[in-house]
Amino acid sequence: MRDYYSMTKEERDAHHEQWGKPNSFPPGWKEITAAKFAECGFFTWCIELIENRTMFHLKEMTVDGKTTVIYDQMGDQISARLFFTNDGRGYAISNQVYDSKKREWRGHSTGEVFYFEFGCKHEWDGELTPQERQNIGPLFRCEHVVKCSKCGHVWRYDSSD
Ligand SMILES: [Zn+2]
Repeated sequence: MRDYYSMTKEERDAHHEQWGKPNSFPPGWKEITAAKFAECGFFTWCIELIENRTMFHLKEMTVDGKTTVIYDQMGDQISARLFFTNDGRGYAISNQVYDSKKREWRGHSTGEVFYFEFGCKHEWDGELTPQERQNIGPLFRCEHVVKCSKCGHVWRYDSSD
């Protein structure tokens, strides 16, 4: 397990490419209930990386007829701890959520904790390419390899566990 700051520049660039920059919401970001979190993969998959993010939504701003996209620092925002798991997705918890309409912070000032999941909702019905099969090599008796047809994540597992 690693923390964000121990990554090399190359690893960090690849991480941003896949998951967005430190002030962006990662793809597939979704709030879930405490009940849903209690049964989610956070408790079963291995945590590969932890990253703290303060995430803003984007807005367009036009100055002198030129439109750019910027972080909306007056809008809703969430500071969260993101856990990237070895199923190729992730889970997050937060105690700092800002509601811009009500102009109020929730979390450590209200005693609430917020739960999130992000990344692909895998569908394990993908077909491995011959090259992927070759890279995996021989499997033991109880081992299986499946692939997500949506994002291409490959998961090797042992059904005897
Ligand atoms: Zn997937």
